[in-house]
Amino acid sequence: MTETSGERILEGVCAADGLVVGRAVPLVSSAHVHRAAGSPGEERGVLVQAIAHASEQLDKLAQSQDEMGAEILEFQTALLEDEDLLAPVYAAVETGLPADQAWMRVIDGEIVEYREGEDDYFRARADDLLDLRDRVLSVLQGKEPARIELDGDIIVARDLTPSRFLELDWSVYRGAALCGGSPTSHVAILARARGIPLVVGLEDALETLQEACPAVLDAESGRLILGPTPGTLEEIAGRLHARKADDAAARSLIGEAAATARGEHVEILINADDPRVLAEVPVAQCDGIGLTRTEFLFSDGMLPDAQKQYEVYRDLVTWAEGRPVIIRTLDAGGDKPIPGVTVDDESNPFLGLRGVRLSLITPEVLKQQLRALARAAALGPLKIMIPMVTVPEEVDAVRALLNAVLSELAAEGVAHARPQIGMMVEVPAAALTAERFKVDFFSIGSNDLIQYTTACARDNPAVTRLANPKNPAVLELIRRTVEAAARMGVEVSLCGDMASDPERIPDLLDCGLRRLSVAPAQVGRVKLAVRRYG
Ligand code: PEP
Ligand code: MG
Repeated sequence: MTETSGERILEGVCAADGLVVGRAVPLVSSAHVHRAAGSPGEERGVLVQAIAHASEQLDKLAQSQDEMGAEILEFQTALLEDEDLLAPVYAAVETGLPADQAWMRVIDGEIVEYREGEDDYFRARADDLLDLRDRVLSVLQGKEPARIELDGDIIVARDLTPSRFLELDWSVYRGAALCGGSPTSHVAILARARGIPLVVGLEDALETLQEACPAVLDAESGRLILGPTPGTLEEIAGRLHARKADDAAARSLIGEAAATARGEHVEILINADDPRVLAEVPVAQCDGIGLTRTEFLFSDGMLPDAQKQYEVYRDLVTWAEGRPVIIRTLDAGGDKPIPGVTVDDESNPFLGLRGVRLSLITPEVLKQQLRALARAAALGPLKIMIPMVTVPEEVDAVRALLNAVLSELAAEGVAHARPQIGMMVEVPAAALTAERFKVDFFSIGSNDLIQYTTACARDNPAVTRLANPKNPAVLELIRRTVEAAARMGVEVSLCGDMASDPERIPDLLDCGLRRLSVAPAQVGRVKLAVRRYG
């Protein structure tokens, strides 16, 4: 923390961009009170009822949410039906513990396990368990879930659980600052999707903020400023003014083709991480889909079969109305584990069996995906993209599998087409030797390219500042890839987060890129940044 004439600046990490001037209000969770215990039989009955009641509350809340919010709540409802989770709670009740204590003891143990887990996925799910713990506990203790009655703009809390986040009226609250949390948690995903500024990792925020006070939530820079000085407020007012003007300009450009100040056309595609968001994006705003992260289709731990996958890919091609659709083969591993598919206990999952490396040792999974992709390619310009490619032999091996799949489909008389094959350039070895790869297109994955070039794990907030997209080594690798693509006569785009950050657009255009794939919510702002270039 830095302190100047009463102003205190707390440094955290941006989880959802934005800038808010208002009042910071501490949210302190209420202490738990214990119930008096009945007989084990009575306590069991109380627990069964409380779980059913909590489940009803979640269903009701889910009905008022969009699909993303509803899905998070459904995950919690599923936990309430998970016998492996509940059996130890009932066993604890049998030993004579009151239902609330039994529930808390078991769920707290699970939360610790999730929190201390090796991977981000489970750490992020710990929030869901915490959320659920408190919901069932409130029912057991005869309380409805506490309403947050805050008279302020910026919520400062130790953490915010997903259902608590969804219950809040975000037309009243304008941002949140959390002591814990991570940019990959569910709450961060929800905040980004709703455009609510969020800063996480402000360790001593609650100790510092004893009572409500004027504050600035500068999520853009990952900071909470308590008691801002007049000078700070003046600087922030200038930035707010500029942001407002930019938003208006971005809105006016969103339906137009992107072009630089000199009139040079830049293609703007979108990243379709969750194909369902496309329902809200007019296709005319973009030049196609530049990245579909198919691992998100597998988020419930089950691999959809080839038919189900085909239907998802078909819907993407149909949505794009003739524009190109790039679908990436499974990039499981690293920070995206899939139980039963990825390898447990790797010493460093980011440097292990991830992306195409894993696909090539589980060829049946890859073949099923290639089959679905080749079928959907009959409906429009679908292109296959291979993640985490390091050496040309990996592309050759995927192409051989695709050839086998195409022969099978032909023999079966199933409608299909040969999709183009391209690769992510996200491993420095591939960026430095791009011309060795026989592909139809490249797409630069700046998230991983930065991580592997700067040796900074992308899920470690302690090295976030060092993982700098402006590092000249990163820009040099991007520039070399673009130049190699031009010599080879193949298309090149960039689909990592760098392309969605308007401030990085000049650097990317300087590197020669003229095709960017961005988050749907950023299309307007990226087009504006392109318009200002040159
Ligand atoms: C990237 O690495 O930039 C990328 C787009 O892939 P992911 O973020 O899914 O690893
Ligand atoms: Mg990547």
